[in-house]
Amino acid sequence: MVVKAVGGGTSAVAASSHAACARFRGTDPLITGLSRRALAEDLGLRGQFGTITAARWARAMTFERMVFAEENARQIATTTLGALGLERPTGVAIVDAHVNADSTAELLEAAHDRAKRSGTATLIYQLAVPFVGFEGESATDVKPDFALVAANPGDADRTWLIAGDVKDYERVRSRIDDSRLLKGFLQVAIAAESLDAWSLLPVGMHVHSHGVLAVPRNSFLQPEARVELLEDHRAEVRMRINERRMEAGAIELAPDSPVEEFVSHLVATFDPVDCQSCTLFGFCRQQLRQSNDPFDLLVEIGIPVFGRVDFQWPTENDELSRALPQSTRARVRASVDGVAQSTGQSRVDPVGFPGTINVVIAKSDSTTLGVYGIGVQRFGSDGPGEWQVTVFDAPQSDDARRGIVRAIGVELVAAMKDRRVNNSNSDAGPEPVHLVVPDSKTADILTSIADHLAGAELSRLRWETDRVMGRPTLTFNGDPAQVPRKLTEPERTGVSFLLEEDRARALTLRTPVVVLQRVLSEQMVAGGPEVNEMRLDYLVEWTRDGDVGRERHRTISDAIESETHTPGALLSTVRANDIHEAFVGKKHGGARPADPVHYESLVRDELSYKCAVIDSAITALAQRPMSRLAGAYRAIEGDAQGVWRRRVLLHASDLVRFGRVARWWRNALVQTIETDGRCRAQLSALTNPTYAIDAATDAGTREVSMARVVATDPLTIQIDSRRFDATTRVVLMHVDGSPCVESGLDATLLKGSVKVSDLSIGPLRSTSLPKQFEWFPDVQPVLTVGDELVVADFSWFSNNKGNRSLNVDRPQSDTTVSPKPTCESDSFEQDPAGHKYCCRPHEDIEAEWSNTLADRRGRGELNPQTWPPVVDTDGFEITGVGARIDDPNDEPAVAPPAHITTDDVD
Ligand code: SF4
Ligand SMILES: [Zn+2]
Repeated sequence: MVVKAVGGGTSAVAASSHAACARFRGTDPLITGLSRRALAEDLGLRGQFGTITAARWARAMTFERMVFAEENARQIATTTLGALGLERPTGVAIVDAHVNADSTAELLEAAHDRAKRSGTATLIYQLAVPFVGFEGESATDVKPDFALVAANPGDADRTWLIAGDVKDYERVRSRIDDSRLLKGFLQVAIAAESLDAWSLLPVGMHVHSHGVLAVPRNSFLQPEARVELLEDHRAEVRMRINERRMEAGAIELAPDSPVEEFVSHLVATFDPVDCQSCTLFGFCRQQLRQSNDPFDLLVEIGIPVFGRVDFQWPTENDELSRALPQSTRARVRASVDGVAQSTGQSRVDPVGFPGTINVVIAKSDSTTLGVYGIGVQRFGSDGPGEWQVTVFDAPQSDDARRGIVRAIGVELVAAMKDRRVNNSNSDAGPEPVHLVVPDSKTADILTSIADHLAGAELSRLRWETDRVMGRPTLTFNGDPAQVPRKLTEPERTGVSFLLEEDRARALTLRTPVVVLQRVLSEQMVAGGPEVNEMRLDYLVEWTRDGDVGRERHRTISDAIESETHTPGALLSTVRANDIHEAFVGKKHGGARPADPVHYESLVRDELSYKCAVIDSAITALAQRPMSRLAGAYRAIEGDAQGVWRRRVLLHASDLVRFGRVARWWRNALVQTIETDGRCRAQLSALTNPTYAIDAATDAGTREVSMARVVATDPLTIQIDSRRFDATTRVVLMHVDGSPCVESGLDATLLKGSVKVSDLSIGPLRSTSLPKQFEWFPDVQPVLTVGDELVVADFSWFSNNKGNRSLNVDRPQSDTTVSPKPTCESDSFEQDPAGHKYCCRPHEDIEAEWSNTLADRRGRGELNPQTWPPVVDTDGFEITGVGARIDDPNDEPAVAPPAHITTDDVD
């Protein structure tokens, strides 16, 4: 009998992201009878997109094992029932349905009886359930990872069934990405819908309104339960499933018709970002590349639909439609000509200057915070140092994490000393120091590692007090704790700096960590889809001379896609598989790395590529001019780091990540965040012509407008924006794409602002023609008729009366709960009340918290005594002594099953 391919849960979930595409809907497994992977292979696509690495698969498998290990499964069950307000079960049974629908039905029946009879909850894993609407149609089943059955406290004859799934989602900066959680819960919703509709569901068993996802709570892959209301998710999957059925009824793939023809006839709605998780990506992109319709180039490079409407195809030297944003025009131009377009922005970054430390890492896929190796290079006042490369023999270990923050901390200490001694302007305080990384993923991983170590250090401080008080040292759940060792001073500096970066992310002008890829894309617009610019080597390639023309972006993009190396933290599939294999070898357990020489040479080879890309990016940047306002950016960061240095010195709130910033602290930040945003917009408008033109043509921006010169005597300009009238005082920012601020004007740093002198500023007077004004600036600009200008309303910047200078207000540093310049190392000890909110050290705060926890434990208010279980919102990563920790690297490398795609695990 032919089994109808329903595509399991994944297909329906993926339908939520690609629902707008008729080709995606028309290639549903229900219609083609093939899984999406098999269909892609029929079209000649082999594992190009959506494949996962062996290491990633090992992690997924290990996490699943961890979730169903007895003690973890019991905890998942009890915390879920607690979160749902159900009664504490008398026990938890854990049973395996072996992905078989008959056993699933039997086990559900048994669990139902058990719950009614004795109040025992049951966790059933590896279920198989007919896909909703396809029962009895010999279609592929839905395979929920697990489900819980528990007594219904309101009715002795009824029980609850709670659908669940296992997802080994990584925590980035201590959080799991919302879009991933959404995807996970959509899968739970399909399980809930299918269970609800199943005729074999025991009478009296009801599917609960909520579902559960088991996700890692720490980097040791120990699980925790996330519980959420499924109402909206279920409505969404119902809609998608109905859509699929309707579509399946309307389209048919005849058994002998050519697949390629069938797929080609379905209209594709291509998007270079979203489509990457679709197995047909390579096929659809290739069709666009081969098309002679110029409009298809726009689709290929992801120009939004509204941008395409006004599009006029440029012939050589033709102007592109002015209705398009400047940045879009630049992207189209770069794609057509094969030459990167300058944004006109001069440099405001510190890259390649003394005080910067370049960092590259190679991330392991098999563990959440595992890193194979790190490369570090410091720029001192005597120029760049050598790259220092370290390869870790135990990438997932605590030692490796400490090795990473130590390597960074040692260089930070040296850089700070260098800046103190060799500072060019000692009156302004030491200059800031920065880490420079190739991509934001590297920054995220480093910060997540720092967060993990900060959590361990704070827990250690609490346990210190427990020891002094003669109390046992217990984890949050009441197990005996493995007390970590104290952070050394360089380690603490590294950890603290990275957490400073985490808090600083709320402010756009802060740059403790500089992402080189962003710096370069602020300078230029490359051809091809914007998403390609996320790779630093792609951008670097565009800074080089090469073949010009329409094919260039495709050639570079293909070369980058097939490159064994990557510039960022994540590795290519090929290299990740090679390193994983060299590390785990062919035997279970045993020494790791299994082939140390090969392992080390692969990691070093990978890191040397990353170092080389950074070197090339710095060389390319060095060709670009520095902005006159670069000092303003540096001063803003320098002031903020002055506060940070006091925090580290006095151990005062320097180990707090943004997620742990107290509510009142966040509230105090609101005004700083606002001034930061405004200052950022103003500085960008002054220094970056592309940004300014985009702002001027954006209907939502009131303060900036395009204008052109219609006469020079008297000076008369036509201003596009209706918001400018005879009462507006106007400041000139750019002439024909050149920023006025960079043309020899004077920029002075004042305490609260940056003062730019000699810009052309003055009032307007109406003329008889609409939108045309005579303009009377104090400083006469050199203009000719027809010049394209970007002007701003002066009052956006300040309410100064004079027309000779303009002030940009600098944001204040975040000084909430931070030591004052007058606080000394013993200030808190001498006067605890007076220094409670400035320099109170972590040591004192944690000692108090330790006592509070001990009191609560004494009153039976903590786990495991209390019901419902208390949730640890801090999520610190300490394991109990003897806790089960499975290592994904214990097993030999296994290739993931052919049908598994990133959509299944992510
Ligand atoms: S890759 Fe092709 S089929 Fe898939 S969603 Fe994009 S356009 Fe549609
Ligand atoms: Zn103080």
